Amino acid sequence: MEEEPYIHKIITTEEILYNPKYGDDRICKCGHPYYRHFDTYEDMRAVGCKYCDCHVFEEEEIANKTKNLFMHGLVICSCGGTVISNTGKVMYNHKENKVYCWICNKEYNSDYAYSMRKENTTVQLDQKEE
Ligand SMILES: [Zn+2]
Ligand SMILES: [Zn+2]
Ligand SMILES: [Zn+2]
Repeated sequence: MEEEPYIHKIITTEEILYNPKYGDDRICKCGHPYYRHFDTYEDMRAVGCKYCDCHVFEEEEIANKTKNLFMHGLVICSCGGTVISNTGKVMYNHKENKVYCWICNKEYNSDYAYSMRKENTTVQLDQKEE
């Protein structure tokens, strides 16, 4: 092999950036809205929450947000994603009798998922029951 005059080294950097499509009013676990976790005067730099010490935006638990708002129980995945919504929306595979988490796609036996559904409460499915 002949030698090249230069060695090319590729350097990648990762930057976390404001996502205008995410939803400015979504509430963080710290209780403050999404857009408050960025500096509006400095190009929306991710500086952490303006009102408290929260550095990383994490959406408030679905459990807290939807509490008492709906008639039906919400069934959520061990990851916190919705499996059966409070309006009854579900990703359902008829052939395999399975329902899926909308976020991580984890599958649950649908009989099990529905049997866990309770009026007005949010039930988190157990990681062990797959
Ligand atoms: Zn926060
Ligand atoms: Zn905060
Ligand atoms: Zn999930």
